[in-house]
Amino acid sequence: MAKKAAGRIVKAAPGKGAKTVKTVKTVSAPARAKKGAAPARVKAAAPARKAAPKGRAKYVYFFGGGKADGDRTMKDLLGGKGSGLAEMTNAGLPVPPGFTITTAACNLWYANHRKLTPEIEDEMLASVRRLEKLAGAEFGSSTNPLLVSVRSGAKFSMPGMMDTILNLGLNDVAVEGLKARTRNGRFAYDSYRRFIQMYGSVVLEIPKEKFEHEFDAVKHAHGAKSDTDLGEDGLRETVERYKALVRRQKGKPFPQEAVAQLRGARDAVFRSWNNPRARAYRRIYDIPDHIGTAVNVQLMVFGNMGDTSATGVGFTRNPATGAREFFGEFLTNAQGEDVVAGIRTPQPIAELEKVLPHAYRELRQITARLERHYRDVQDFEFTIQDEKLYMLQTRNGKRTGYAAVVIATDMVAERLITPQEALLQVDPSALSQLLAPVFDPKEWKKLPVTTRGLPASPGAASGQVVFTADDAVEWVGQGRKVLLVRKETVPDDIHGMEVAQGVLTATGGMTSHAAVVGRQMGKPSVVGAGEIAVDDKARRFTVNGVVVSEGDWVSFDGLTGEVKVGQVATNPSEILQVVGGRMAKADSDIYQRFEKLLSWADRQRRLKIRANADQADQAELAYAFGARGIGLCRTEHMFFGEGRIEKVQRMILATTEVQRRAALAELLPLQRGDFYGVFRHMHGEPVTIRTIDPPLHEFLPRREDLMVEIARLELTNGATAAIEEKKALLARVEQLHEFNPMLGHRGVRLGITYPEITEMQVRAIFEAACQLAKEGVKVVPEVMIPLVGHVRELRDQKAIVDRVAAEVMKELKVKVKYLVGTMIEVPRGAVTADEIAAEAQFFSFGTNDLTQMTFGFSRDDIGKFLGAYQDRKILERDPFQSIDTVGVGALVEMGCVKGRKTRPDLKLGVCGEHGGDPASIHFFHQVGLDYVSCSPYRVPVARLAAAHAALQVKVGD
Ligand code: PEP
Ligand code: MG
Repeated sequence: MAKKAAGRIVKAAPGKGAKTVKTVKTVSAPARAKKGAAPARVKAAAPARKAAPKGRAKYVYFFGGGKADGDRTMKDLLGGKGSGLAEMTNAGLPVPPGFTITTAACNLWYANHRKLTPEIEDEMLASVRRLEKLAGAEFGSSTNPLLVSVRSGAKFSMPGMMDTILNLGLNDVAVEGLKARTRNGRFAYDSYRRFIQMYGSVVLEIPKEKFEHEFDAVKHAHGAKSDTDLGEDGLRETVERYKALVRRQKGKPFPQEAVAQLRGARDAVFRSWNNPRARAYRRIYDIPDHIGTAVNVQLMVFGNMGDTSATGVGFTRNPATGAREFFGEFLTNAQGEDVVAGIRTPQPIAELEKVLPHAYRELRQITARLERHYRDVQDFEFTIQDEKLYMLQTRNGKRTGYAAVVIATDMVAERLITPQEALLQVDPSALSQLLAPVFDPKEWKKLPVTTRGLPASPGAASGQVVFTADDAVEWVGQGRKVLLVRKETVPDDIHGMEVAQGVLTATGGMTSHAAVVGRQMGKPSVVGAGEIAVDDKARRFTVNGVVVSEGDWVSFDGLTGEVKVGQVATNPSEILQVVGGRMAKADSDIYQRFEKLLSWADRQRRLKIRANADQADQAELAYAFGARGIGLCRTEHMFFGEGRIEKVQRMILATTEVQRRAALAELLPLQRGDFYGVFRHMHGEPVTIRTIDPPLHEFLPRREDLMVEIARLELTNGATAAIEEKKALLARVEQLHEFNPMLGHRGVRLGITYPEITEMQVRAIFEAACQLAKEGVKVVPEVMIPLVGHVRELRDQKAIVDRVAAEVMKELKVKVKYLVGTMIEVPRGAVTADEIAAEAQFFSFGTNDLTQMTFGFSRDDIGKFLGAYQDRKILERDPFQSIDTVGVGALVEMGCVKGRKTRPDLKLGVCGEHGGDPASIHFFHQVGLDYVSCSPYRVPVARLAAAHAALQVKVGD
């Protein structure tokens, strides 16, 4: 009965099941980004007069009947989902037909005061008519109504962040048509109920709870426990109540005209591009705000037409661990939203084989082909309507960093992809997830397992429980570690998920929102821990008789799903254990894969990778991670070591040169020892050592603290000598006080006013280097002068370096090759780089200070206004994290060009924080730097990002 009726809904749908799948073509080359790929900016094209006549901009792309206007290369315009639907249609897969309204239309809608032009409205209408013809159904028909879904779909997937409307096209007449066609009144009215609820909340912006309240009242009156207990009568009554609610809230009836409904839904999707959660998501993932979303309008197929219908989502491999297993979940008699919303806990996909074996086999065949076709793990959505399978979406699956490495290396071993493609599959930043801590197994075993959930995203998480995303942010702001515990997460929770150690939910499956987003963030997550009863109001949850209140410690393992009450210490990740020599390489599968992937990266990249390190152990770690050289050794960090700060203070307090030299003589052996250690661990790779940089007052106590201390001593009759000593210190602190220390007496300016400091540091460098040379160890010191803006500053300091180096080499009777160079971190340094290069053998761009001085933003205070700048779209990203290519980057480029004009073999690098940021690395590759230098932990990220840059792929493509 239902089968016949269902057949009509999809009468003209293109896919004819398994047979058509054979037409899937294997794509010979991977989808690579275009050369020099700059971020795609979709400009709103000029408005079209007629419905997309030839040569005019086209805003609506149709797919159906085995053919699509678009294809997979059109992500910018059609969004990920739209281009995927087009591609699947062209490949002959069973995809319900429909059309995509482009991202250009979205941008135009915003630019045009939230309206589309009549021409685009006509173009859309023409597509509606074409869809009606193809589906053999009509909008608003009393016998065979056309029903569609309306979904968002940006270039980059933003799971759950924007809005969706299902069952659009239903009205008081069409619902009877649906009933007649399906001979299922309950189904028809349930569909109408769902539609009014979705449309009412998303488009008409009536709070969801108001609908839930009405629904609960009807359920109560009918004695129904769950939605499914309610029959057609109850659902009719719900529909009437919903319509009355809309009338009350909006002062007009629920829209009955299908095209008007479609316009409303389309505009709501455009609007949802700028809802707070979508904006927060874009900020976290560096997705530009200007690209807009496409809207996909597609013929509805129903997974809720009875027990022979189902809907589900899945992955061709496990997205948490990377294991090669068919992975996913489904619900019978349900609509897609039920699976992802995490309200009903779905069944594992393997069960589908028992329930609907034919459709299951077909699904396996199709998805295996899709994986080969796209040469990547596929994340797919499907609906089975009365035993017939439809593919609703496929896209490259989001995965944890751990899974990404496993999948990439497996696929190469399976000869499915090349090593280059494998590299591009792994987001460089995701590698840092592999370095995240794991529980100390002994400590972990001490606590009993309180409950278990689904292991959605691996990693050890231990924190104090909070129940809202806002609390998570607030507590973390107070320096606490939190676990976010929710019944289920919703996209609005994204800011709390970001800061929490981990996320724990009571409901939801492996593909619920919490799971998908958790994996993508690399955030340890356990979901669907069904024994947990969350009481948000009381701020506690109960589980197996244990009550856990806000602030209590809970720990869980995102790889096994085990949850324990209590705090558990963590251990370094397996990779760090191997790197640190505490685990054998052979015992760690993930380390071997990690190493293999990075060895492929090393073959592709042109940029060399160095590390910023000031201590021997940091240098050792950096080398083990693959750094080949130190790009920045901040010598002043060494001054803070135990027993040193007093010596430094004595040097600062000295009133005569003789006194200062005496204090410096005490520091000399300590610095020499430091340099010796760093050189040694770099095994003959170059080591750039920077002379002192910060203003001297940074080494002294704070003025306010000293004043309090003196007052306390005076009040308690402290020893006069002690009081005098503090007073002398205070006097010097006041003398050194500067109104603008970042632009004050620091960097090269210190070396010029106190040349004996430079002399001591250079002596320490060369004594260490000569000693190692004598021991037969290769050393390549590079002495770097900070904050140079004028060539004469460098000339002054270079003379000291050359003189002292010659003295030491003569004394120790050994020669060491060395370079003298400078940081380019003052705008004038970049502008006069041609003059400076006459004295410098290398430049290292200090993009932290260069950003500070180019924007005039204090690097320590930008947090106070950056949020406002980002909200108002003045800045898209924090320029201290990711290089501002247009402004600061232009100075870097100018420095490179001018410097190399004077000295063609000038060595160029960067040692600001940007040296470890993948997007910035791409830029540094393009402007021709020789190396980037970053913190030891970011070295693997930089190796991979440099390979991506060499493969000409912009991060995020
Ligand atoms: C820089 O300014 O980019 C830099 C590396 O130096 P510092 O951060 O020590 O000022
Ligand atoms: Mg600096």
